[in-house]
Amino acid sequence: MMRALLALLVLSLVLGAAPDTQPPAPTAGATTPASVRDIDGTPMLGANDLARLLSASKFWRSDVRKLLLRAPDFRLTLTEGTPFAVLDTRTITLPTAVVSRGGELQVPVALLAALPQDSAHARLVHDEVARVVRAAPRGGFVGAPRVQVAGGITRVVVPCERAGAAAVFARGHARFRVRVPGELIEALGDSLPEGGLVLDLRAAPATDAVAFELALDAGAQSFRLVPGPGRLTLEFATSALPGGERFAPAPPTGPHALRMIVLDPGHGGDDAGAVHGDLKEKDLTLALAKRLAPELQRRLGCRVVLTRADDRALTQHERAERANRERADLVIALHVDAFPSPRARGVRAWVAPATMAEPERSGARPLALLPWRDAAAEYAVSSRALAEAVTGLLELRGHGPVQVRERMPVALLGVHAPGLMLECGVLSAPEDRERLASPEGLARLASLIADGVLAWARDG
Ligand SMILES: [Zn+2]
Repeated sequence: MMRALLALLVLSLVLGAAPDTQPPAPTAGATTPASVRDIDGTPMLGANDLARLLSASKFWRSDVRKLLLRAPDFRLTLTEGTPFAVLDTRTITLPTAVVSRGGELQVPVALLAALPQDSAHARLVHDEVARVVRAAPRGGFVGAPRVQVAGGITRVVVPCERAGAAAVFARGHARFRVRVPGELIEALGDSLPEGGLVLDLRAAPATDAVAFELALDAGAQSFRLVPGPGRLTLEFATSALPGGERFAPAPPTGPHALRMIVLDPGHGGDDAGAVHGDLKEKDLTLALAKRLAPELQRRLGCRVVLTRADDRALTQHERAERANRERADLVIALHVDAFPSPRARGVRAWVAPATMAEPERSGARPLALLPWRDAAAEYAVSSRALAEAVTGLLELRGHGPVQVRERMPVALLGVHAPGLMLECGVLSAPEDRERLASPEGLARLASLIADGVLAWARDG
């Protein structure tokens, strides 16, 4: 019985994909990429592939050399030998004429940009790296990276639509992480070229993005991100790349001894911090600190002190002084954000910068004169490892998007210990606000932050 039903189902799927005069229902065929061929320097797509990707039926009128594609929600007419396409009643000018090759019309790929974007069919984009046209998710596609080795430079080319918005958020040799906005649409290859600086490459889930995690050879000295049309190129080199960033010195290995953690709930007293309706940052940071303290005590077996345990104002000097007097091994300043845009959300960690851009000219100022040479900067490398451990965990558990910002946060000025300022969510974002306003949400947030601190303390 089951087998008969299955056979019927398969049969109906096959039939559904085949008819010539009725628009077929979208099937796997509509998502299989179509090859792009170069004709006289113009990327072209075959009309049969175009019809398949649009789930359109085709009508050919040989007398006028016209092909009508009837998609579920629009009609497209192409005429052989002319650089025009008619979309419903609108005429679109193409960069070159529609031509016939081997009995099939070839259409300039540029046509795709003119197709309706808000329609039922998939959004079609030209993947210039893979040389295909593919159906792309709304948030943009991210393809499998191609790794190339040339001399001392290893390039990782990631096909994607929003390369300019990609960001590196972990930059160690053992774990180099880059986030590329969009959705991964193909499986990663299972081999890497020999002799390159990339030893391992995997994709991790991230919010509205793909996080690629790389393991790099210790010989990699510098890296840079080169965003381009349709692709992001990551370059790793055994020497200093112009405009690149040098790798941070490796953090001291081995577990961090944590005897004393100071939690610094932001704001207080007259300073409410960010406000949204009845919710005030000063109350939320205190409530979170009070949940995080016992969690850290229990899981790490260390002492935890709060810079304030009630609603009072403190100066930055008083906060730092308290942390230094307690001989803190770690300081976490807790804050939340609010932005005018309701779309801003997620978690941001601020740490003292641990790397610097390569000097562009020989006249660049030496490191010793850079203004961030502050007390906390000497802890910058381990602070950043901590920030990455905490935000990485928060992102995996759905609190993203996350960012690690390398700029000395005011909340750590004068602090003589590794530390980070954590903006734990955005009050103006409904999803974040719901979490921050509920006792369960705060408890979960505290538990995740403690997980991150624990991971950092163990792994170094
Ligand atoms: Zn704040």
